[in-house]
Amino acid sequence: MSQEGNETVARLHRVCQEIRQAAADCARDPGGITLVAVAKTFEADEIWPVIADGQRVFGENRVQEAKAKWPGLRRRAESLAGGPITLHLIGPLQSNKVGDAIALFDVIETVDRPKIAEALAAEMVKRRLSPKLFVQVNTGSEPQKAGVLPGQADQFIEWCQKHLSLSIGGLMCIPPQDEQVSPHFALLAEIAKRHGIAHLSMGMSADFRLAIQLGATHVRIGSAIFGVRSVPRG
Ligand SMILES: *Cc1c(COP(=O)(O)O)cnc(C)c1O
Repeated sequence: MSQEGNETVARLHRVCQEIRQAAADCARDPGGITLVAVAKTFEADEIWPVIADGQRVFGENRVQEAKAKWPGLRRRAESLAGGPITLHLIGPLQSNKVGDAIALFDVIETVDRPKIAEALAAEMVKRRLSPKLFVQVNTGSEPQKAGVLPGQADQFIEWCQKHLSLSIGGLMCIPPQDEQVSPHFALLAEIAKRHGIAHLSMGMSADFRLAIQLGATHVRIGSAIFGVRSVPRG
């Protein structure tokens, strides 16, 4: 393996250790926390060492980019023990990409508006595929950010469940960059609790320990594993 690959795997191990430590610190079972390794902007060759080391859950924020990288990586991974890859979409979804997204992703974390929810429901029937769906909540009510507004989250979740018969397995948020993250994580956990939703995708490289304290079941970690992204995206 290349020197860079070795360093990436060493960082992966450190992150896994820190997740276990954070879980232990708040008396949680580390088995209840899934590391979603965020591979956006990194090439297949840079991702492969992490797969070869046994990591199986990955996140991408762009459908087109994932379509170029993951079918090949999935095929290569089949030759290894350790089971299939699980791929999460963590970036905004456009309605003309919904078909591709359903074909590629096992979990779509960014359901955030009626038009997308309707397109997902229709394509899932058509393709006989049922990715897990998370609703993204714009906990900071930031105008430029995707996600349903906190005040509309209850209504949107119920509408997805009742009107579209979609199963909402989780909630996801990306807190504002310049604020304390804890209130945002707590708000997401509160909304999930009201609806009996089991999964909480919250926490990134800088704040996953806090997210784990506040109940995260999925932490989305990119730069702490793969290094600094040369092309900043999303
Ligand atoms: C890029 C990205 C991440 C990972 O961010 P890091 O700070 O590199 O860990 C997590 N979630 C989303 C939605 C992202 O777009």
